[in-house]
Amino acid sequence: MLEELDPFKIAQKQLDDAASLMRLDKQALSILREPMETLIVNIPAKMRDGSTKTFTGFRVHYNNARGPFKGGIRFHPQENLDTVKALSAWMTWKCALADIPLGGGKGGIICDTKKMNDYELENLTRAYVRAIYKFMGPLIDIPAPDVYTTPQMMAWIADEYSKITGYNAFGAVTGKPLEVWGSQGRGDATAMGGMYVLREAAKYRKVNLKNASIAIQGFGNAGNFAFSLAKKMFNSKIVAISDSEGAIYSKKGLDYETLLDVKKKKGTVQGYPGAEKITNEQLLELNVDVLIPAAIENQITSANAERINSKILLELANGPVTPEADRILAERKLYNLPDFLVNSGGVIVSYFEWLQNQSGAYWTADEVYKKLDAIMTRSFKDVTSKQQEYLKEGKKINTRMAAYIIAVDRVSKAMKYRGWY
Ligand code: NAD
Repeated sequence: MLEELDPFKIAQKQLDDAASLMRLDKQALSILREPMETLIVNIPAKMRDGSTKTFTGFRVHYNNARGPFKGGIRFHPQENLDTVKALSAWMTWKCALADIPLGGGKGGIICDTKKMNDYELENLTRAYVRAIYKFMGPLIDIPAPDVYTTPQMMAWIADEYSKITGYNAFGAVTGKPLEVWGSQGRGDATAMGGMYVLREAAKYRKVNLKNASIAIQGFGNAGNFAFSLAKKMFNSKIVAISDSEGAIYSKKGLDYETLLDVKKKKGTVQGYPGAEKITNEQLLELNVDVLIPAAIENQITSANAERINSKILLELANGPVTPEADRILAERKLYNLPDFLVNSGGVIVSYFEWLQNQSGAYWTADEVYKKLDAIMTRSFKDVTSKQQEYLKEGKKINTRMAAYIIAVDRVSKAMKYRGWY
């Protein structure tokens, strides 16, 4: 049988597995297996040459039992409804695991940002808001940036939504620039949260992060900050990094400033002086202390799970490991930390941003990082305790299932109290 790679079917399979382990009520499961609402919009936007081009966009409301829907927007040529649905489910579990009062949602537009200029991107972003404004808002659904969307686009979203509603609704979207009331610390929040989890995991597994070898797949927002923070916080050695063009490897470690320079000049990490060119596949199979997938989904599958060699696999991307690969990694006793624990820093600081916008009181970067650290550390400990709780009953569960059980339990209890089943 071919391995399942459809992200939404994967999300459903993970939920089913958790539901069976925790003996979840069947009525709760039937609500949780599908999004509550799915919106598909046709978006006409003016192009530079005066023509109008029509784009397809999505906004999925997965579950709001614990609070307003929350989740990013992707602009991607291969965007599709199943990916958006999967990501909206993972957002639900992410917010519940972090124990913040938000539900899960996600959005996307099928478009190629590399072929569009700022004028066209602004028109498309604003047109998307006009198409979905009845389904969003500070107390309904709060979008944020994700793959190929930026703080500038979030500012356009805040502005368009404010114009439509007639008041300054900064809390309608997060990930905004500081000048329009974004939060301190939002830029590197995802990677920073991942580093707090890595610190706790390394303590727990007795891995010394000083001089530890790290390979990172992806050099975008998540991968770039993971590189600089791992260096700054732990003095680890980043031996490999990649982007969509391929990977580079240097046993003695890569220098961040040189890498930034190469990426800026050549548009890719390839061309770093003295580093060996390798493929993205080879990067994943390197013998390293820590492997950080920080690019796209389905990177570790049944095809390569036997050859993954890291002591800690830190899933900074969404959905980088398939369920079949998960099973193989568990059999091999590899320690992987699930995406919706590791990369929850982004939505946690988004939550802080929303709180600040709603209250009008603003925090320093130190306050943000301190509060983020407390939540990430607590979530890591919750996951570890859940594994131990099951172990006492003679059941060995991996970190992903432990995280799922905590999150699904919280959402299903909220639904139960609200009388949804
Ligand atoms: P990004 O667009 O900034 O960067 C993506 C990176 O992946 C780029 O370096 C790109 O070249 C690389 N890439 C693309 N296709 C690739 C391929 N086939 N092989 C190897 N590399 C490839 O995106 P990002 O914001 O860094 O997000 C990366 C991952 O982290 C995604 O899964 C995203 O959902 C997840 N994530 C990001 C945030 C955030 O706040 N940025 C929050 C939570 C989760």
